[in-house]
Amino acid sequence: MRILSAFLFLSIMIISCSPAEKAKAPDINQIATDYVKLVLEVGQYDGDFVDAYYGPENLKPTTDLPEGAIFEANDYLFRADDLRNQLDQLDETSFSGLKKARLNMLKKQLLAVRTKISMMGGEKYSFDEEAKLLYDAAPPTYSQDYFDSLLAGLDKVLPGSGNVSERYTSYASDFIIPKEKLDEVFQTAITEARKRTDAQFQLPANENFVLEYVNDKSWSGYNYYQGKSQSLIQLNTDFPIFIERAIDLACHEGYPGHHVFNALLEQNLVDGKGWVEFSVYPLFSPQSLIAEGSANYGIDVAFPGATRVAYEKEVLFPIAGIDPAKADRYYEIQAMRAKLNYAGNEAARKYLNGEITREEAASWLEKYLLYEPDRALQRTRFIDQYRSYVINYNLGKDLVANYVEAHGGTADQPQKRWEVFKELLSNPHTASTLK
Ligand SMILES: [Zn+2]
Repeated sequence: MRILSAFLFLSIMIISCSPAEKAKAPDINQIATDYVKLVLEVGQYDGDFVDAYYGPENLKPTTDLPEGAIFEANDYLFRADDLRNQLDQLDETSFSGLKKARLNMLKKQLLAVRTKISMMGGEKYSFDEEAKLLYDAAPPTYSQDYFDSLLAGLDKVLPGSGNVSERYTSYASDFIIPKEKLDEVFQTAITEARKRTDAQFQLPANENFVLEYVNDKSWSGYNYYQGKSQSLIQLNTDFPIFIERAIDLACHEGYPGHHVFNALLEQNLVDGKGWVEFSVYPLFSPQSLIAEGSANYGIDVAFPGATRVAYEKEVLFPIAGIDPAKADRYYEIQAMRAKLNYAGNEAARKYLNGEITREEAASWLEKYLLYEPDRALQRTRFIDQYRSYVINYNLGKDLVANYVEAHGGTADQPQKRWEVFKELLSNPHTASTLK
């Protein structure tokens, strides 16, 4: 083996010195193109793997998978490793500023793609290992005592009898948007979110979206970005939809959330710079932490502080036929409830690590996220399907918020907040570089 290695090493030395080989030195654009092809091919085996692709047609697989095709993980792992080796051979000192950010992000995205391929091939990771490899992030851990103390706060303010979750369900039933009003409430919320975002970003002239109502999904809303500044936004009506979800989803899926994030990446990086890797969005990758985090923080950007409740009282509550006099109290309770959000990560961590059963995870979600039993079970389906992806919503939001606010985008500087937020949405970032 040693002799063979020495021989190979010598051969590589000779080959690498020849002028013909020099011309084939790794090139980031070529690596990016091969990365796109790899992602699209793997995506043929898993419908969730590619969230969006709007790059050149000729990078797509030329043939459909034959019936019953078996996923050969090792073949794709080999290709991912080869691309990583080529990236490692690039002279890093020749990259600076945005180009360096591009190189770093491509390495992180590729690591995530490699990790997901290995998982599709049967590899198992703990929740925290998976989160690190796929999302470039280390999710914090909170004790049950921490959530119990938050629950005790809600226990004091919620009326009625029964446990906190039952009392919350009963209280919140006054804030359900009637089915026949859903479309008007959502269209109104989206129009307002779009108006506020456009005033700041001057959105592409042709940007647009289609809104559909769907059923039987593990999520509450989804944006399928189509390219050329177009989105398909789907909202799941399996469960009653509460009034706060109108602004939440309008901002998260639309403006300035996923729709705008994708449109800005396309405009600035794909069209503006020709960085083809951004035309494909592998879902289980660091880009998702920025996507979900910015989509959630985008709510606070478009409707900062008290302006949100003011707008809802004046416009959305009357359309939905809900008494605006109840709005302030409702949003105080929502703020308390939001602090419990990380309890969802604990359920996912314990469940995916095999420490608790699905039923125990659902009970935990009922108790700490105040879900009704059937919604808690729906949430376990989401955890099955998306696994450690759950961290992207809350940890992602916190990391994005810290980044924007550390760069001057505090609540009392709304203009600066939009400015930093736009920079974040328009450039390559991953969790560990949000500093
Ligand atoms: Zn989202």
